[in-house]
Amino acid sequence: MAFIHRRGLMLGAAGLGLASLVRPASAQAPAAPTGPFTLPQLGYAFDKNEAAIDARTMELHWRFHHQAYVTGLNAAVAGQDALARMPLDELVMGINQAPEALRTRLRNFGGGHANHSMFWEIMGGAGGEAAGNVKAAIDRDLGGFGEFKNRFNAAAMSVFGSGWAFVTVTREGRLAIVTKPNQDSPLMDGQRVLMGNDVWEHAYYLRYQNRRAEYVGKWWDVLDWAKIGTRFDAGVAGTLKV
Ligand code: MN
Repeated sequence: MAFIHRRGLMLGAAGLGLASLVRPASAQAPAAPTGPFTLPQLGYAFDKNEAAIDARTMELHWRFHHQAYVTGLNAAVAGQDALARMPLDELVMGINQAPEALRTRLRNFGGGHANHSMFWEIMGGAGGEAAGNVKAAIDRDLGGFGEFKNRFNAAAMSVFGSGWAFVTVTREGRLAIVTKPNQDSPLMDGQRVLMGNDVWEHAYYLRYQNRRAEYVGKWWDVLDWAKIGTRFDAGVAGTLKV
């Protein structure tokens, strides 16, 4: 177990090395674009989700994995003025209208940026149960909180390889559970995302190794239901973005 843990840390260090390698080595090299998309602040310390996700994983996931999606997205829209000016949610929702040569990169990096921005926002809490409007919607559409957890966890376990489980929310406040491979997003189907869990191995491997079910089960303990409630209300109001 300790060996696997150290190996995980080495993989993290390798990621750091790679990040420094891709920086321009000389004045002649073109600088990597630094905008228009930026890594959002977490809003809490790396150890805030310790009940489910260790601080090292939080830091690597945010600082390197998420940053790589932001960097890749900025590179993809470089010189594409119309795309570079688009809000992230509109860019991801319009993926199938984007230039075909850019579409795969926009899908992976734009989807990755949107998915992770949502993911950090809904964590940092103390778990517990939904309340208010979102609770009522869960009771109506997803069989109550306990049944919702069971269905969502089963969806997260059904993702083969890398991907996500999401809850989508309509303007009528209707909820549904969906899964997506890779960094695809329900936004690509014109649906808004209430919440979602990242089941890529990078999200849980240091602490849980192959035990995805354990990670998926613990993840509920760090959700911030006030934030998710705010996202639900924004979904109904039509102001929910990514
Ligand atoms: Mn991730």
